[in-house]
Amino acid sequence: MPLPPLRGHDPTRHRLAAAWRSGRLPGTILLTGPAGVGKQRTALWLAQLIQCDGTELEPCGSCIGCRQVLTLQHPDVHWLVPIPRPKTGDADRQVDEAEEALAAVMEERRARPLYGAPDGMASHGVASARVLQRAASLTPVGRGPKIFIVGDAERLVPQESSPEAANALLKLLEEPPADTLLVLTTADAGRLLPTIRSRAVPIRLGRLADDEVSGFLREEIRPALPEPEIEARVRRAEGAIGAALEAGDEAAREGAARALLEAVLAGPGPRLERALRQQPWSARGEFSAVLDAVADTLGEAARGALGERLRRPVPAGLLGCEPRALFQALDRVAEAREAAAGNVNPQLLLAVLGDDLAELL
Ligand SMILES: [Zn+2]
Repeated sequence: MPLPPLRGHDPTRHRLAAAWRSGRLPGTILLTGPAGVGKQRTALWLAQLIQCDGTELEPCGSCIGCRQVLTLQHPDVHWLVPIPRPKTGDADRQVDEAEEALAAVMEERRARPLYGAPDGMASHGVASARVLQRAASLTPVGRGPKIFIVGDAERLVPQESSPEAANALLKLLEEPPADTLLVLTTADAGRLLPTIRSRAVPIRLGRLADDEVSGFLREEIRPALPEPEIEARVRRAEGAIGAALEAGDEAAREGAARALLEAVLAGPGPRLERALRQQPWSARGEFSAVLDAVADTLGEAARGALGERLRRPVPAGLLGCEPRALFQALDRVAEAREAAAGNVNPQLLLAVLGDDLAELL
């Protein structure tokens, strides 16, 4: 599926397009602004404009360059996103592993272009810096420059163990090859390495108007959302489409957590097995987020069991549980959360957790 169209940010688009058409586009750009406001999407829009056969201030949307960027398949457009820490210790194999992880994320985004925020543990490590260097050293395939988009650039941690990789990356930022455009994006410019910040031209993206967010939700989300849900999401989004999408993911995670706990309360059997195979558990990066939703639900039930007023609904069966059992269950979820950050198969982890919880609750 192609990326959904970029919404809003018209003055910035105009400014970037005019700079590109007149040959004045800086080699390194830093897009800043609130989370979910469309910084990486704006970077991809710029990449599309640059690779487009047209000469207008907006990409045509139908030439081959446009279509390749919109389907994340352009050979000269490289989109780097935070990925989990490599599992192997060998430096060369780490680079291969990072390339594979990035390719897997892109595969997922081609299938599901409305993506959420990256996992809290993911980063741009030394291996990602090397992937970038490797690609930057190649000649562009097409006539345009090679374009590197680095999302959540504050997670760039090249100095961790290899000053050599950090130095090479900084050199790349300092003297980008003539045929290279680097677009970094961050919601938190203060956490960016100062050496990187000082080498990029900053451009700030503001929040969108509410009708731009609601228009996006109405036109891009299928099956269509009911109107009250759209209104609720727009209120929570505060002008950031990403936040409006996250609100939907939150609801899906809470639903998966509730279904798991209800199945656990019903005891082992096909219902529990079905709950364990639910989609939200299997998506990359979602596993720990759903575990957090399970922990939230158990915590809320514990509040209820201690006589506090509930702030959101929990499965009725949980309210009859002893507070001690609920706290033990919370410990088990925390253990699983920790194991999930390591090299453990999530499905296996979930099966064990389901059994543990069934015993406790
Ligand atoms: Zn085009």
